[in-house]
Order: sequence, then C-alpha cells, then structure tokens
Amino acid sequence: MMQTLTARAGDVLIGGGNPIVVQTMCNTHTSDVEATVAQCIRLRDAGAQMIRITVPGQNDVGSVRLIKEKLRAAGVTTPIVADIHFSSQTAISVAPFVEKVRINPGNFHKDHDEARRQFARLLSVCKEHDTAIRVGVNHGSLGDYITNLYGNTPEAMAKAAMEWLGMCVDQGFFNVVVSLKSSNTIVMVDAYRRLAKAMQEEGHVFPMHLGVTEAGNGDSGRMKSCVGISTLLSEGIGDTVRVSLTEDPEAELPAARYLAARYGREIVSSLTSLSITGRDAVANYHSPSYETLLFDVSCDFGKRLMDKDLDNLVLTGDYVDDGGRTVSLEESGKGAYLVDELMQATRRRFYRPEYIACPGCGRTMYNIQAALEEVKSRTSHLKDTVIAVMGCIVNGPGEMADADWGYVGEGNGKVSIYKGRTPMLRHIPENEAVDRLLELIEGDKAI
Ligand code: SF4
Repeated sequence: MMQTLTARAGDVLIGGGNPIVVQTMCNTHTSDVEATVAQCIRLRDAGAQMIRITVPGQNDVGSVRLIKEKLRAAGVTTPIVADIHFSSQTAISVAPFVEKVRINPGNFHKDHDEARRQFARLLSVCKEHDTAIRVGVNHGSLGDYITNLYGNTPEAMAKAAMEWLGMCVDQGFFNVVVSLKSSNTIVMVDAYRRLAKAMQEEGHVFPMHLGVTEAGNGDSGRMKSCVGISTLLSEGIGDTVRVSLTEDPEAELPAARYLAARYGREIVSSLTSLSITGRDAVANYHSPSYETLLFDVSCDFGKRLMDKDLDNLVLTGDYVDDGGRTVSLEESGKGAYLVDELMQATRRRFYRPEYIACPGCGRTMYNIQAALEEVKSRTSHLKDTVIAVMGCIVNGPGEMADADWGYVGEGNGKVSIYKGRTPMLRHIPENEAVDRLLELIEGDKAI
C-alpha cells in the first residue's frame, strides 16, 4: 500500500497504512429522516464503515443533524459524510454536524475565484470542528477553468485535484481524502495513477477514495467497479472504496467488502490454474459461488487486459450456483459471457451498448432502477452506443461524461432526453420516454 497521510472521520482512519475502508451512500430523501436513519442502520449492518448522505441545500442541514442524533442515540457510530454539489454555503453550514464533507471542485461555486474563497472558509470550519474533507473530482463535471486548459482528460482531473489539495496544504489542513472518479475504467485508472505520482512529487500524499462512478447495475456494474478499483489497489493506490451501483445501496457492499478483504490479503482468488501463451490466457476456476467467480475474474484479469498484457482470455472450470449445483463454465456459456463482460469493462472490446447510470441518491425523484432496466432491455441491439440513465436533472446532465444519449429523470413523472450534452426533449412523460429515446437514436442513425 502506498504510504499516505492519515485522514480521520470520527473513529475511522483512512490511509496511513490502515485497512481499506468500505463505504456507501444512502439513496433515501434526506428530508425523510426516519427512512434515512433506517437505511443507515441497514448499511452499517451490511458492512458499511462510512455512509454518505446527500445534502442538496440549506433546508436539509437540519435533517442531517437529526439523522446524526438519532443514529448516535441508537448506538450507531458509523461516520456520516455530507455530499455537496452546487452549494458551497451548504458545505460550510453542514460541516460542524458531520464527520466528513465531500465537495466537488467542478461545481463548488460557479465562479472559480469565489470557489477558492469559499473553500478557504470551509477549511476553517472543518478545522474548528475536526471534520474531514473529500476533494471529489468527477470526470463528467470538471470546471470550465480546468477543461479550457487541459481538455476533458485524466490529466485535467489530476490537475484539478492538485489545485484543491494545494489549498489544503497552504492552510495547514491535512484531514483530507481525494477521489477522481469516472465511469470509464481507463480514464479512472489513468487519472489516479497521475494523481498518485503528482502527490508524491509534491511531497504530500493524501489518502485516496476509489470508485468507478455511474457504473450501472448487475454483473456489468460490478465488473466495471472491480476492474477499475482492483487495478489501482493492486498497485498500492487506494485507501477507501465505494462500489456504486444503480441498485439498493446494500447490494454494493459485497463487492466493496470483497475488494477490501482481497487487497487486505484476507482472501485469495478461486483461480486454480493459469496458462499463458503470448498474450492469450486460459484460466481455470473452481468457485464457491457465481458472485465470487465474477469478482475473482475481474480482479485477476482486469489490470492485465487494461494494460494490454493480455488480449484474449478463455475461462474454464466451474462454480456452485444458488441451488448448490455445480455449473460448468464451458457448457453453460457463462465462461464466454464473463469474458465478453470483462472485455467491455476493460474497454478492449464492446459487444453490446455501454450503459452509464448513477446510483441515485436523495436527489432522485423517480424509480431509476426500473428505468435503467427498461432502457437496457429496449436498447440492447444498439451496439457501439453509450447511453446514460441519470437520477436528477441538477447533476445528471453534467455527470454523463461521454454518453451519446442521456435519459435524465426530472421528477414528477417527467424525463429529459439528451444527445450528448444537448437537451433534445424535455418534460416527456415517463411512460413515453424510452419510445422517444429510441425514435431519436434511430432517426439519428438514419441520417
Ligand atoms: S446524478 Fe445521480 S447520484 Fe448524482 S446527484 Fe443526481 S441523482 Fe444523485
């Protein structure tokens, strides 16, 4: 593990050689205090060591205080992280009441000079209240000031983070974690590698929070997350992880816990043999479950495929299904399917459309999980197309990064459809939205 500074959120130590910390985020409405408290308790029980809650605006600060009070009264000590977008004042207001504040430099304040002034104020409040900060840069929402200089690139992400970390150093504030997330595993890995190198050169290596953002759901979301996160963890980069899935947040924790345990050397792969000829590999597994197999394959071969040490992979062997039956990877076709998914996750070969979908959070005003499933089932024929399904109109369009098309829930049963960054249709009733999306895509292909 790379030697880093240590950040502290409540009782949880991040970096500095401490075990990898597993975290997740609530998808309840923060104003629904009871539902959020109940979800936090379920997430703690499922293994979350830190829990993030969205704080959309000043009105939610009181709810966060109440959630914290109720959790502590129930004996739940899990640190709470406030997630802030577009409101530097909200970050400053909530900082005394939480263990950590996540800010996004790309949308902390629309004026860059004012953003720097507000960040200095936030650091003072955090110092006073012993609150940690995450400088959370996202590929899809870099500020104009940085993309004008470096484009929408991994280099720009690392440069953006270094500027904000520099402000922390200048103020003598070191209780900081940093992240550079992207839904594109190659961009994400490249950005973190650049950041790690830049921090080493500057002499202050802050702990790193790893995640593949907007990874989607199901096998593909898990594999993308495992590929990106494991590649970095295997290089000693990363101190806390979030696997973000467009599913209930409890469902994120098995993959996150697996990653923390595997790179904490508590578990090993179910790979039983490996033969490599040139850049082709045949790997044999004997896995106790499908889930273990999926995690093992992603971690065993993600980095090798991304770094182009391998070009092809064949999976043989078996796993035990939920009914206790042994399933052959060759006969069931699961081996070939997992290779296809792995090739897509590592962006070596695309065999179906690429989906970007945020996990949803307290800003989401519609059933994003059902919408993603419908979009996937109706667009599966559109190979070589990148389709985003996003949970809110405030942050979603900015976070879609390099999607060709975007389905963005507005709330109140309405959807906006985007082509790249351009809104094509607004306020479409939800039950018509996928039809309209398909019409636009088909019309575009016909031109
Ligand atoms: S894009 Fe998704 S995860 Fe991000 S703030 Fe909006 S609903 Fe929440």
